[in-house]
Parts: sequence; structure tokens; C-alpha cells
Amino acid sequence: MAKRIAILGSTGSIGTQALEVIAAHPDAFEVEVLIAHSNADLLVAQAKKFKPNAVVIANEQHYQTVAEALRGELVKVYTGESAVCAAVAMSTVDVVLTATVGYSGLKPTIKAIEAGKTIALANKETLVVAGEMITRLAHDHGVNIYPVDSEHSAIFQCLAGEFHNKIEKIILTASGGPFRGKSRADLKAITKAEALKHPNWSMGAKVTIDSATLMNKGLEVIEAKWLFGVQANQVEVVVHPQSIIHSLVQFEDGSIKAQLGLPDMRLPIQYALSYPDRLQSDFPRFDFRNYPSLTFEKPDTETFRNLALAFDALNQAGNMPCILNAANEVAVAEFLKDNIGFLDMSEIVEKCLRSVSFVRAPSYEDYVNTDKEARIRANELVKKLQVYSR
Ligand code: NDP
Ligand code: MG
Repeated sequence: MAKRIAILGSTGSIGTQALEVIAAHPDAFEVEVLIAHSNADLLVAQAKKFKPNAVVIANEQHYQTVAEALRGELVKVYTGESAVCAAVAMSTVDVVLTATVGYSGLKPTIKAIEAGKTIALANKETLVVAGEMITRLAHDHGVNIYPVDSEHSAIFQCLAGEFHNKIEKIILTASGGPFRGKSRADLKAITKAEALKHPNWSMGAKVTIDSATLMNKGLEVIEAKWLFGVQANQVEVVVHPQSIIHSLVQFEDGSIKAQLGLPDMRLPIQYALSYPDRLQSDFPRFDFRNYPSLTFEKPDTETFRNLALAFDALNQAGNMPCILNAANEVAVAEFLKDNIGFLDMSEIVEKCLRSVSFVRAPSYEDYVNTDKEARIRANELVKKLQVYSR
């Protein structure tokens, strides 16, 4: 029977690629629910093509547009945050692909897990904010979380058949982003257009900026800890500019397994949806003759402070990763509005980590309050920076 999929964030980079995968495998997958935030036109086009049971446009301002455009179609149309949470929990949904961006993924992911849905997780921020709570909840509800992030998919693929074997170390590869090799002085005047040009991957704006600052790798270290049950000191980051080796696992006997392929998110998306099976695909194949050398370097955490800050937050545990994430979301949004400079982003994250109230064993409410407090603090810091730069 085809798996019935709900896509949370169907109009984004991951969401649209997931729909390509689904379209190529009509026997394996069926679109049950599509959820977007503001891109009404694309959501309507997707609904007409894939004929889901329901669509949700989270931003209520666009409800009328979507509802009118889909009048006469057999698609239910809903709006608002509570509709997002209800849609992922619908009894006709088997798998929820969480492809929204940032903290907004947390609540619907909780609702989907509570409803017993298998999670294909792209929204890494959910595990960064509340990894302890999410993994406990998934365990209690007998829910599997399959990674979509390419690095974590690589590790998961290396672990197939090895789940009973202890992991000694996880080695996450990082492309190094567009500013690899640059100094802090070089980075001072970086513009948003330069930061949005990733050498190997085409992705949404937030994750592209996170890749340029290495925060993405920091978030992925935290994501790996929760997905694979390892400690921070068992995760190592290595810069691999060609993005061919997507990550590696070292076992207790010293053996290292890696997963390779051209950078193409459709493959990890497809594997998360089709697991434990592999489905035929026509994605371009890797050829060693085109890559005479695969290279590796140590990450520069003096220049790219965010990676070190993420390790610090993970080691301090509690709500520190939640503070890191909220401060970073504000910083990236303000950088994308040209309100702050490239280096200001890690400055804001660091100051928030030092000043927002620490909670050792946070509840859901603590995460919500921490996220609020950290955003207020980060916005104050943005205002200060703007005053100084005038
Ligand atoms: P995009 O910005 O391209 O897309 C985000 C999607 O989420 C859009 O469909 C957007 O809707 C929707 N959305 C945003 N806010 C809400 C909300 N409050 N409620 C409902 N829907 C919402 O992001 P990406 O696809 O690049 O990234 C998604 C996640 O996947 C991120 O966590 C990212 O880190 C992760 N990831 C992405 C990779 C990539 O290649 N893109 C690689 C690995 C991980 P709309 O467009 O209608 O506003
Ligand atoms: Mg990744």
C-alpha cells in the first residue's frame, strides 16, 4: 500500500523536492496533506496536481485566495496554527515530512508524534530546541524519526544492519560554505547576496546563511546527538569542500563507514520516505573520474565562531541549545534584512547564551519561554548594533 504523506512546508526547497520524489513513485507514495505558510499560488498549484485530502495555509491572510482557487476541487482547505497541528495528526496520514523552517516546526512535530505518525525530519531546529523532549516523546509513542538532512541520512544509511553495534564516533562533513579560508577581516563586509551563494547546494535562505556561518553544522552536531544517542565528544566535524562524502560513522573496532553521492537532497528525502527499501531513481550518478581528489580540512572555529558556540551550548545542555537557536533565527532574519553585518550574527548568539536565563531540565513551557526571552534579548542586541553603526 502507498504511504500517505503529509508535508509540513510543501512550498519550500525540501517540500518541492519531496513532491518530485513522490511524483516519480506513485505506487509507493500518496500526498495526503500539504501545508505552507504564505505561498498561496504554489500551494494551490500543488493541490491541483497532487489532489491531497487537505491543504493548510498557515498564514490566515492567504486563506481566502487558496479557498477560492480550490473551490470545486475535492480538497479541504484550512488555515491557522491549530489547523497545522490537526492536519499532521489526521488518521489518514502515515508519515509526516517536517520541512518547515525554524522553531515553527516544534509544536506540529510534537502533535504528529503524539498521534503516532512516522516522522521524516528535515526541520533540524526542532531537535536543536527540544531534542531531549522530542526523542523521549518518540520513544514513548513508539514513533520512528528518519533523518532527511543529508549528513544524518548518510549516518543512518551507514548504520543499516549495525543498529546493535556501538558507535565510537560520528564524523559530520561540512562543505565549509562560500567563505571557507577567509579571515574575520574578510568577513566584515560580506553582503547578503554573497552569503546566499552556496558552492554545492541550492536551499532555502535560512539554511544557506547558516551554512555560510557554519551554524548549520553546529545545529547538525546537536541534531546528531539526539538522533543517534551519542555525546558531544563523539561528534567530529571535518570540512570536505566537494560535498561527496555526506558523513561517516566509526565503530568500536575502528572501522569507518561512509555514504557517498553527488549533492542532491532528493536522495536523502526519498530514503527517509521509502526506508527500509531503496527505490529506483534517475538522479545523476557520481563518477570518480570527475573527482580526482576528495579533500579534508579542520574547521576554522576562530573565524566561524558559531560552530564552537553550538558545541558549548550542547555541553551546557538544558535550554542552552534552545537559546542558541532562537538567537540565531533572529540574527539570520536581521542579516537578511541588511540590518546587521555577517560577524554580528555570532556576536548576538554568544551574548544571548551568556545572558538568557538557564533552565537545567526544561519542560515544554520552559522551551516556549526561553524562545521568547532569547528573541527579545537578540532583538535588543540588534537595536544596539544599529545605533552604534549609525
Ligand atoms: P524553505 O525556506 O525553502 O521552506 C520553508 C517551508 O516552510 C515553506 O514551505 C514555508 O511556507 C513553510 N513554513 C515556514 N513557516 C511556516 C509555518 N509557521 N507554518 C507552516 N509552514 C511554514 O526551507 P528549506 O526547505 O530550505 O528548509 C526546511 C528545513 O529543512 C529547515 O529546517 C532546513 O534547515 C532543513 N534542511 C534543508 C535543506 C535544503 O536543502 N533546503 C537541507 C537539509 C536540511 P511558504 O513558502 O508558503 O512561506
Ligand atoms: Mg545538512
